[in-house]
Amino acid sequence: MLSVFRSLFSFNDKSRIQRATQGFLLGICAPLGWFSISHILQLTVTDPLYEVALYTYITVGSVLAMVGFALRISKGEERYARMSLLDPLTELYNSRYLLTRADQEFALFNRTGQNMAVIMADIDHFKYVNDQYGHSVGDVVLQQVATVMRNTARKVDIVARVGGEEFTVLLPDSTTKGAMVRAERIRERIASTPILLPDGRTINVKISLGVSSTEEFVPDVFNELYESADNALYRAKRDGRNRVVKAVESDPLTGEVAC
Ligand code: GH3
Ligand code: MG
Ligand code: MG
Repeated sequence: MLSVFRSLFSFNDKSRIQRATQGFLLGICAPLGWFSISHILQLTVTDPLYEVALYTYITVGSVLAMVGFALRISKGEERYARMSLLDPLTELYNSRYLLTRADQEFALFNRTGQNMAVIMADIDHFKYVNDQYGHSVGDVVLQQVATVMRNTARKVDIVARVGGEEFTVLLPDSTTKGAMVRAERIRERIASTPILLPDGRTINVKISLGVSSTEEFVPDVFNELYESADNALYRAKRDGRNRVVKAVESDPLTGEVAC
């Protein structure tokens, strides 16, 4: 019994003490409230209205208190549900959310033919940034790159951090051309935006991107689209970095497409 009491009132836990104090105040205010109301209305126990007023007070008070608690709990639940979808460092979406949305968008594409695209992005020579300036500066760079990615996206796009310095943008209802323009805008903005470090210095980073779209390549499952964007990113790295590469290119002579 004592251990249960101790676990409930562990005095290291500030928020638990706060909640207990709130509960205590609520509990003590209820009879005090009734005392004040009966005093103002000059109700005595023998008054015929006394019981009606008392039950009304108890009912309204309990309902308000319960609704207040329920709203508070639901607000907390919403916060935790939202946090479980976000990457804590950049506050972009995480892979779990990206894949859930990707499945929905891919199902929409299969049903309606509405094209979608994927951009895979990876910061160039990021290991050098960490080695040269330290891990915490690397984290600042990741946050700044995330901000650029977020600001370049449309409202319907899903921007996620899917690895250490790797990002994915899911573009519902997008043509290949639209996705290429957006990827190029991300690349250009990141290359031309100096990142301000906490000590006042600035550094520049660059990013490589791969783009894949259902307009040119019809995958059986979303993962194929994702992998083709990743392959394009690999080519962007291989071809010199700081560039955007499309997953499926038409051969200018034969018109054939190749992944
Ligand atoms: P490339 O141009 O080929 O992409 O080279 P790179 O150096 O960017 O690639 P590499 O995969 O060798 O390095 C990625 C680095 O990202 C290594 C790892 O220490 C760093 N990293 C991963 N997650 C985090 C993180 O959360 N914070 C910081 N600061 N660094 C991270
Ligand atoms: Mg990488
Ligand atoms: Mg990299």
